[in-house]
Amino acid sequence: TTNGLNLMLCPVTLPDGSKNTVSVSRVEEKMGLHGSPTCAVEFDHAEAFLLGERGNGFRAMLDLMNAARLGVAAQGLGIAEAAYRQARAHAADRVQFGIPIIQQPLIKSMLSQMAMEIEAARALLYRTAALSDRMEATEIYLASDREDYETDRVTLQAELESGQQLLRFLTPLCKYLATEVANDVSRRGIQIHGGSGFMAESSAAHYHVDSIITTIYEGTSEIQASFALKEMGKGALDPALASLVQDLKSLRKNHPEQVAQLNQGIADIGNALPTMLEDISYAMLNSKRICDMIISVMVGTELLFQADASEEKGALAEAYINRKMLEVEFNAKRILSGDATRLARYDKILGL
Ligand SMILES: Cc1cc2nc3c(=O)[nH]c(=O)nc-3n(C[C@H](O)[C@H](O)[C@H](O)COP(=O)(O)OP(=O)(O)OC[C@H]3O[C@@H](n4cnc5c(N)ncnc54)[C@H](O)[C@@H]3O)c2cc1C
Repeated sequence: TTNGLNLMLCPVTLPDGSKNTVSVSRVEEKMGLHGSPTCAVEFDHAEAFLLGERGNGFRAMLDLMNAARLGVAAQGLGIAEAAYRQARAHAADRVQFGIPIIQQPLIKSMLSQMAMEIEAARALLYRTAALSDRMEATEIYLASDREDYETDRVTLQAELESGQQLLRFLTPLCKYLATEVANDVSRRGIQIHGGSGFMAESSAAHYHVDSIITTIYEGTSEIQASFALKEMGKGALDPALASLVQDLKSLRKNHPEQVAQLNQGIADIGNALPTMLEDISYAMLNSKRICDMIISVMVGTELLFQADASEEKGALAEAYINRKMLEVEFNAKRILSGDATRLARYDKILGL
């Protein structure tokens, strides 16, 4: 249980100027992330000070983690973008069989998928960060005695509560998406570099090893999926999907085909959900799958808004929606075609 945990600050130097009995006993050897030393710390009856309220340490740590999760999502996005830019430049430069490899359909497709995944992660992250900023500003306003905003306090309070619920849902989705994208994109970056990408000094390789930690720290991808599932259990999904359906109405006139595809994706999620939630083990088994489905319809809608505002974004939005709505359909079928007995089959495969 996390109840009763305290958050403590343990300084190296105590307030009276004496040295505290806390020390770094080892600097870890890691496969990547060499710009950030990771150390084993030893506490030998060291003195520490309580931060915040006694017993509320886990709550405080979660506040920190939620912000950090968006930070790690941004880190993943940055690594993916750098890996993509380098791979794209290499593919334009490297000539094989008389043409730059970027002209090979397989390489072109790989690079386009990388660009698409990056834009997807960026769209979800920016949307979540904007929501986070708005909720923070609303909270500050409501805590003050100001009365100069056009919306009344009761409405603002309701907006704050629904916005915070959505934020608790979007934050793990964001971290999960952007960091998995970082892993996939940087891995494909190495592939596009061929043998030179495998060399220890190649930055394509560095991007990949640095990306690997992002799906692990501040909560692994599996833990992000379980957090998102928990928020769904508390009712976060229905209002999120209802608001997407509303958004799509405003896009229908200019993008009827894509809106129909996204609405079908939302319907697929709605159809698959009851089967998935019949059994907690089956829900956990499918938690990443359902996150992927929800992310696809959310991001598809975001990208369509971008395409609506700027014509040059149209090709990417269409490609994303075409590809992802097929995956949503497949994932819905996969959920609907099974139940918790699937786990018994896995037990047999694993000899458990
Ligand atoms: C370089 C580095 C820096 C770090 N910095 C910090 C830091 O500053 N502060 C800090 O507090 N921690 C830090 N960590 C720790 C990091 O947050 C943890 O390693 C991470 O959260 C995973 O926990 P774990 O290592 O105990 O793995 P485990 O919990 O043992 O997980 C192992 C595997 O099991 C899976 N798993 C575990 N539980 C479940 C579940 N319920 N459902 C499904 N799958 C599950 C995980 O997803 C993972 O794939 C750091 C780690 C590294 C490597």
